[in-house]
Amino acid sequence: MDIRNGLVEAIGNTPLIKLKRASEATGCTILGKAEFLNPGQSVKDRAALFIIQDAVARGQLRPGGVVVEGTAGNTGIGLALVGNALGYRSVIVIPETQSQEKKDMLRLAGAALVEVPAVAYANPNNYVKVSGRLAEALAASEPNGAVWANQFDNVANRLAHIETTGPEIWAQTDGKVDGFVAAVGTGGTLAGTGIALKERNPAIKIALADPFGAALYSYYTTGELKSEGSSITEGIGQGRITANLEGAPVDFAYRIPDAEAVQIVFDLLEYEGLCLGSSSGINIAGAMQLARELGPGHTIVTVLCDYGTRYQSKLFNPVFLREKGLPVPGWLERSVDVPN
Ligand code: PMP
Repeated sequence: MDIRNGLVEAIGNTPLIKLKRASEATGCTILGKAEFLNPGQSVKDRAALFIIQDAVARGQLRPGGVVVEGTAGNTGIGLALVGNALGYRSVIVIPETQSQEKKDMLRLAGAALVEVPAVAYANPNNYVKVSGRLAEALAASEPNGAVWANQFDNVANRLAHIETTGPEIWAQTDGKVDGFVAAVGTGGTLAGTGIALKERNPAIKIALADPFGAALYSYYTTGELKSEGSSITEGIGQGRITANLEGAPVDFAYRIPDAEAVQIVFDLLEYEGLCLGSSSGINIAGAMQLARELGPGHTIVTVLCDYGTRYQSKLFNPVFLREKGLPVPGWLERSVDVPN
């Protein structure tokens, strides 16, 4: 029998999918960890589960208690669903610029949603800071307690990837993996998976794939946190070294233009049937760069972070794409003439 006992056991153990066109273009085997197949349709289910379990183990969260978080959406969706399964409520603070689909899903999952203007981290009204204050206030008033998930600086996040994502990739490839590439939101995926893989074989190369508008490409190439430009990607693009990123074993860093990332996402849907969000495009572009760096014959793993329907109104909307000066895939506007 192969039975998962509830939502919690349905998180993780996602398949590794060989990406045909990326592999053919580079002469390497490029594999995507299919995190969009998690119950909340993103990689963040793993961090959400570990953060909640950690808060329970510390006695900070009691049955009926509240989990508060600031999130671009995916972590909130994971927290809300895991919360429902384990008996906790969720209060989610999200920047209003994030996709409507993620906000709708959060409401659907029963989260109390607080939308705030998208302002920089240094601003006290930044979504992360608002969520921290809200958690403190609720901790004082909620009879069963309230905790701040604090995904950026709570290392229970990266522990999820040290204990699950990394070991899964190692086992699924029989240890025949030469490189791992990921973009950074909190850094949990990159640092945690990187640490777990290096622990098993220090020769495995770990690479960051950064969008424009983030400061980490600059940090890992020059030592200075500096950003330029902007990106339509959601859930990634970090401007500081979070606690989860600290000590991440990063060998290479690449900066990927949006136009390159979205074209990869469109081609994957059109030619391989894989429907993904834009951060997966950044990751695959990064994996192809690492493949070129290492040369043909290597195996590179990256992350297929979330499912594309989450961005139907933006990434797959011709009006939005044209506004941003990005390519529009022909099939989005294809029509069929029906004979009379
Ligand atoms: N892609 C998407 C769509 C995400 O929501 C996130 C998480 N914010 C990431 C990538 C990056 O994951 P991490 O927080 O582990 O760096």
